[in-house]
Amino acid sequence: MKLTILGCYSATPQVNTNPTAQIIEIKNHTFLIDCGEGTQVELRRNKVKFSRVKHIFISHLHGDHCFGLAGLISTFNLLTRETDLHIYAPKGLKEVITMQMKLSNSWTNYQLIFHELTSTKSELIYEDDKVEVHTIPLDHRVYTNGFLFKEKLGDRKLDMNAVLNADIDIAYYRKLKQGADVPDNEGNTVKNSSVTKDPKPAKSYAFCSDTAYNEAVIPIINNVDVLYHESTFLEKNEALTKPTKHSTAKQAATIAKKANVGTLILGHYSTRYDDLSAFKTEAKTVFENVELARDGKVFSFD
Ligand SMILES: [Zn+2]
Repeated sequence: MKLTILGCYSATPQVNTNPTAQIIEIKNHTFLIDCGEGTQVELRRNKVKFSRVKHIFISHLHGDHCFGLAGLISTFNLLTRETDLHIYAPKGLKEVITMQMKLSNSWTNYQLIFHELTSTKSELIYEDDKVEVHTIPLDHRVYTNGFLFKEKLGDRKLDMNAVLNADIDIAYYRKLKQGADVPDNEGNTVKNSSVTKDPKPAKSYAFCSDTAYNEAVIPIINNVDVLYHESTFLEKNEALTKPTKHSTAKQAATIAKKANVGTLILGHYSTRYDDLSAFKTEAKTVFENVELARDGKVFSFD
């Protein structure tokens, strides 16, 4: 599982900072989360192949999370893309994008498939045999979802020495991988656990931005390996979190602690702060394993 931060600042793009966008690579998928202005440039800078992006997840319709989408869709078209593009976003974005394409008479040659989100409860929005994606309803000034990406547990691993010693026909290997007990060549039952090993643990990643401090997310993100939680402000500016419905670094860390996550990554910083290390220091007073997102930073979790 690999996370590439394309942009991790709030509000407006600046010379050296980008609004929210990130790529999570999980089980051979390249999922784009949010698409702030300039995302297509950052995809190029970070050498993410455009053709790999088949699913885009948009948290909410504030511009710093979606103003890059119309441009990206248009560029895909200019590059003669043929692959379907799925967009999971709050209801309304389809109307915006469709209007843009209609007025510029630039319909895509590829299929653009919108999955409009309206539920205020967590729901499964994507699933295949390797991975599933759920929404995480957040508390912000407009309808907003975070996203939970979960690997599915893979097959059990054959312990080949033990399998050969147990004299099991190759026709049963598939059943062994699925966890079944099987007969040996003399008809005796072989316990699955004596000839197989546990699969690699399934990884999970939760993206929570933008949101006020919201304990309702805790049961949804409980025990995730990695949590990206917005920390727009430091505690000294906590008064600003109320009208804006954002969080402080300390509040993000409190959610991480209560949800027992593995690693907390902070981001969505207000551009009023020059020194990001204060975010880490503040969060660490509550939760130990804290990382700071930075534009262009890559986190690998294996
Ligand atoms: Zn917002």
